[in-house]
Amino acid sequence: MSDQTGKKQDGIQKLLLVIITLIFGVILIFAAAFFIYDLTHAKRPEQISGKCEKLEGLYAVRQEQKTPVELPCNILVPAGEDLVIETTLPDEIGEDTWVCYKSGKDTRIYVGDELRRDFNRKENTIIGGAVKLVYMFIELKPSDAGRTLRIVRYGEAGKTAHLYDMYIGTSLGIVEKIVRLNIVFFILTIALLMISLMAIGIGLMLRFSKKVVSPITSMGIGVLFVSIWLIFDSDLYQLAFRNYYIDGTMSFIMMLLIPYPFIYYMDMLQERRYRVMYELTCLYLEAVAVCCGLIHFAGLIDFLTMLPFLAASEAVVVIGILYTMIRDYVTGLYKAYLASFLGVSGLLVSSALELILVNTVQERYDGACMIIGLFWTVTLAIVHQLNAVREAQKEAAVAVRASETKTNFLANMSHEIRTPMNAILGMDEMILREAKSDSKIARYAADIKSAGNMLLSIINDILDISKIESGKAELIPVEFEICSVINDLINIVSRRADDKGIEFVVDAAENVPVRFHGDEIRVRQIILNIVNNAVKYTNVGKVKVNIDAGWDENKHPDEVRAGDIITLIITVIDTGIGIREEDMLKLFKPFDRLEETKNRNIEGTGLGLSIANKYVELMGGHIYVDSKYGEGSVFTVHMPLEVVDPTPIEDLTERIAKLQNKGGESRSSVMAPNASALVVDDNEMNLEVIAGLMERTRMRVDVALSGPEGIEKMDRKRYDIVFLDQMMPGMDGVTTLGEMRSKFDLRNVSVIALTADAVAGAREFYLDKGFDDYISKPVKADALEEVLRQHLPKQLLLSEEDIERITAAEEKKKEEASELPHVLVIDADSEALRNVKEKTDGIFKGAFVTDTGKAQKYLEKHDAKYVIVSKEIYKQLTDKEQT
Ligand code: ADP
Repeated sequence: MSDQTGKKQDGIQKLLLVIITLIFGVILIFAAAFFIYDLTHAKRPEQISGKCEKLEGLYAVRQEQKTPVELPCNILVPAGEDLVIETTLPDEIGEDTWVCYKSGKDTRIYVGDELRRDFNRKENTIIGGAVKLVYMFIELKPSDAGRTLRIVRYGEAGKTAHLYDMYIGTSLGIVEKIVRLNIVFFILTIALLMISLMAIGIGLMLRFSKKVVSPITSMGIGVLFVSIWLIFDSDLYQLAFRNYYIDGTMSFIMMLLIPYPFIYYMDMLQERRYRVMYELTCLYLEAVAVCCGLIHFAGLIDFLTMLPFLAASEAVVVIGILYTMIRDYVTGLYKAYLASFLGVSGLLVSSALELILVNTVQERYDGACMIIGLFWTVTLAIVHQLNAVREAQKEAAVAVRASETKTNFLANMSHEIRTPMNAILGMDEMILREAKSDSKIARYAADIKSAGNMLLSIINDILDISKIESGKAELIPVEFEICSVINDLINIVSRRADDKGIEFVVDAAENVPVRFHGDEIRVRQIILNIVNNAVKYTNVGKVKVNIDAGWDENKHPDEVRAGDIITLIITVIDTGIGIREEDMLKLFKPFDRLEETKNRNIEGTGLGLSIANKYVELMGGHIYVDSKYGEGSVFTVHMPLEVVDPTPIEDLTERIAKLQNKGGESRSSVMAPNASALVVDDNEMNLEVIAGLMERTRMRVDVALSGPEGIEKMDRKRYDIVFLDQMMPGMDGVTTLGEMRSKFDLRNVSVIALTADAVAGAREFYLDKGFDDYISKPVKADALEEVLRQHLPKQLLLSEEDIERITAAEEKKKEEASELPHVLVIDADSEALRNVKEKTDGIFKGAFVTDTGKAQKYLEKHDAKYVIVSKEIYKQLTDKEQT
C-alpha cells in the first residue's frame, strides 16, 4: 500500500469515528434534554384521565390474625401455609378502575368471595414454564366498593416471599406509572445497546480495513448480550408484546451466554497467559448451561428457581477474572492494557455494588449500577483500541522506513559490489580471450569466472528476495528459444555433475515448440535452480531433466499456433538425499535450509526455491514436489508460456550440437565494422572492459570519462549507439542524456543506460527517463551483444556468413601473429589508430593507445620492438620536455 492511500484510509477512519461519536453524543444530549423537559413541563392532555395510586391498608392474614404490611416488603411464610394478603377496597369505585399486582408465583385473587384472577405458572405454554415476574391486572366494578380484596399465594411455605408495590387506578394511569418506573432504565439499556454496536462496528472496521483482530469486537458482543438480556428483562416488554413468556426464557439464555465474550476479551488482552484457566472456566460454564437448560426445559426446576445457582456460577467467572487481574497488577503486566484494565476493574466494582444493592435496598432500579459499569468498560475498551491503532500506525511507519532503508542499502550494496565485479569479470573475460585455451592462465581465469559468477548469483538472489518481499517482483517477457536455455543448462550443470561423478541426462519431448514469449531470464533461473539443487543434493546416481509441453486437452500438438498458451513442463528427477515429509512445508520459505547440520558443507542460501516458486506463481504456474527421504526427489515445474514459433524441437541433441558449434568461445554473434559507439563512464577500468568486450564486434568505440566529455565527443562525431553510465560525479547519466537530447538529434541514435543498480523497477526507471534500454553491470559479453543486435541499425550489422568468414580468417591471422614483431602505436585520434591497425594487420602485432599515459602503462608491462607516435603526440612530448 502506498503512503498516499494509507493516509487517505486513516483520514476516512478518523472521520467515521468522529461521526459515530457525534451521533452518539447528540442522541445522549437529546435524551437528557427530553427527560429534563418531561419532568418540568410535560402535561398529559386533559381529556384523558389517568389516575394511579399505591394500594394501601394491606394486611397479611394468618389464622384470623391480621398484621399490617407496607409494600414493598419481604415476608417469611410459615411452614405448611400459603401467604394471604388482604385489603378493603375504597368506598367509591368509578368506571375503568383496576388493581395491578406483580408476581412470578402461582396466585389467586378474590374480590369478596369471587375469584377474579387465577395465575398458574403452568398457563405458560413454552416448555420450561413461566420464568418471569408478570403484571396481573384485576378489573373492579362500582359494586366492588368497600369489599375485601384477597390475594393468596401458593408454593412458598417456609420461604421468604417478596411483595412488590401494588397500584389501584385507571388503565392509563397504571400503564403510565409502569412506564415511568422503567423508562430511565430502558433508555440506559438502549444506549448500552448502541455503544455495544459501536464497539462491534469499530472491531469489524479494524478487521476488514487493517486486518487486525481486535478484542473490542468480543467486548462489544458481550455488552450486546447484556443489553438484549436487559431489554427482555424490562417490565416494559410485557406491555408492548403479548408473547411475554418468551422474554423470560430468552433473558436466561442470554445470561448463560454473557460470560464467553468477556472471557475471550480478557484472554486476548492478557495475551493468552491464562488460557488454561479460562478454558476450564468455559468448560464449567458449558456444563452448567447444559445441565440447567435440561432441567428447566424438562420442566423439573425452572430457571427462575435456579437463579441463585446461575448467579453463583457467573460469580466464578468474576472471581477468575479478578484473580488474573490481581496477578497482572502484581507482575506489572497490566500496563500493556492499562485502559482496558481500568475499564474491567470499574465493571467488577460496579457489579459488586449491584450485588450489595440487590440484597439490601428495596426501592431501586435493578441493574442500573451494572449498566453504568458497562458504559465505563466499553468506553475504556474503545479508548484502549484507538490507542493501540495509533501505536500500530506508528510502528507501521517505522517498519516502512526500515524497509526503505533496507531497499536503499541493497541498492547501494548492489552498486558497490557490482562495480568492482564488472572490472574483475570483464578483465577476466579479456584474459580468457587472449590466453591460449589450454594454458594455466586460462584455467586460473576460468576459475575466477566461475567464482565471480557464483558471488554474483548470491547477490542477485538477495536482491531478488528483497524485490519479492517488497512486492516489486515483475516479469519482463521477451522472445526466446527454449533450446538456448537447455544448452546453457547443460553447459553449466554437466561440469558440476561430472565433478561429482553423477550421470546427468537432459531429454525433451519431440513436440515442444522452439520459440516462446516469456521472461527468459526467470525461466532460465527457475530451471537452473532446481536442476542445480538436484545435483547439489545428490551424491550418487543420476539427475534427469525432462522437458515436455502440456496442451489444451482438445488440441492436437500439430494444431498449436503462434500466440497459443501452452504449459512448459520441466521434470527434474534425482537419486539424492530426498526430503522428509515434515520438511516439505519449509521448502519454499526464504532462508530456510533443511537439515542444516547435515548439509553444512553444501553451499547455498536457502533462497533459490522460494525465488523460483514466486516467479513460477507470477507466471501462473506451479511447482510440484514429490520426494522419498533417502531415495530421491522429483520436482515438476509447470509454466504457462505463449508460443511464438510452434515448430517442434524434434531432435534435441541435434539442435544443441548446432548451438554449441555456433557459440564458440571467442566468436562474436554481432559484427558491425561501420558502426560507431561512444561509452561514457567515470571509471577507467569499466571503460576498458566495455571497449574490450566490444572489440570483437569490430565497431569503432570511443570513450569518455564524464558527461561533458561525452557531449563534446558527440559534438565532433556522429555515433550509432551511446552507452551512458548512471552514477558519475558532477553530471549523472540522466542529466547527460537530457543535455544530449537538447543539443543533438538523437532520433537514429540509441542511448543505453549502464547501471550497477539491479534493484526492482530499474528497467522502468531508465525507459521512463528516455533511455532506449539498459545493461546492468557486470556487463556480460552476450548481454552486450544482444543489446547491440537490437539497437544498431540493421544495415550496419554483418550477416552470419560474413561473421563466420571473418572469424575464421582472424583465427588464422592470430596464429601467424604470435610470430610477428611487437609495436606500440600512440595517436589521440582513434579513427587514425583504427586505420593503422587495419593496414598493419598481419605485418606486426601491437598495442594501439590514445595517450601517452596509457602507453607508459603498457610499456611498464610489455616489451615493444617499435614505438610509433603521431605528430601531435610527438609535439606534446617535445613541448613537455622543453618546459
Ligand atoms: P539452497 O540455497 O540451500 O539450496 P533452496 O531454496 O534452493 O536453497 O533449497 C532449500 C532447501 O531445500 C535446501 O537447503 C535443501 O535442504 C532442500 N532441497 C532443495 N532441493 C533439494 C533436492 N533436490 N533434494 C533434497 N533436498 C533439496
